[in-house]
Amino acid sequence: MNKFCPICQMYTDRFRPFGEQKRPDAKCPNCGSLERHRLVWCYFQEKTNLFDRKPKSLLHIAPERLMGELIAVIPNLDYLSADIDSPLAMVKIDLTDIQYPAESFDIILCSHVLEHILDDRKAMAEMLRVLKPKGWVNVQVPIYGPTTFEDPSVTTPEDRLKFFGQEDHMRKYGRDIKTRLEEAGFQVKHERYARELSEETRTLYAVRDQDLFLCTKARNVWMLTHRAQRKRYKKCSHDHKRQRKSLAV
Ligand SMILES: [Zn+2]
Repeated sequence: MNKFCPICQMYTDRFRPFGEQKRPDAKCPNCGSLERHRLVWCYFQEKTNLFDRKPKSLLHIAPERLMGELIAVIPNLDYLSADIDSPLAMVKIDLTDIQYPAESFDIILCSHVLEHILDDRKAMAEMLRVLKPKGWVNVQVPIYGPTTFEDPSVTTPEDRLKFFGQEDHMRKYGRDIKTRLEEAGFQVKHERYARELSEETRTLYAVRDQDLFLCTKARNVWMLTHRAQRKRYKKCSHDHKRQRKSLAV
């Protein structure tokens, strides 16, 4: 047993090959998780408040069956899945015109969605609008290199397949999606979480170096900094008091 799935907690001899150009060790034979699912699951556990059991509202955009089932049952989570047309989702949503009021959600999961949306900047702005001040958005897209490639003259499914790799993809993103998210108003952390795991763990879980983008509201970060500064100030003044006291003695 030289593989372990951190999602279903099962050991196995090997994961199954998966994908158009069959990637070895990709799909868990028990729960069906792929590399990106296992990676983001570990990331959420390690780096976010998703599992802290405090009440939170979560919007899951374009839910895949596995992740939808796993996340919907997390304790104290007010879970809502949404998609433009998938029957798997609880409500229909147009990400460029979200029907919910501002500051509705603590967490938004947006995995492999933006590459399908023509006006992705509008979708980013809408996610920012419906995010609560202390909330976060997880964005994952296929990344092809450093720079995004798009061409408005590419409009047919045939051409999109040829230039963007899939009939319904609107562009090929590069790592500069970070800048685009920042321009929409997010504070963005570009995470390459697999690099933080040991070689043994990467092999055991069969995860690859895939890019994650953790987006928060810019002023949220200012507030956190401000709070940290206040804490530091308190600590300093406390130290000063102690010093004065010791001097007085
Ligand atoms: Zn599994």
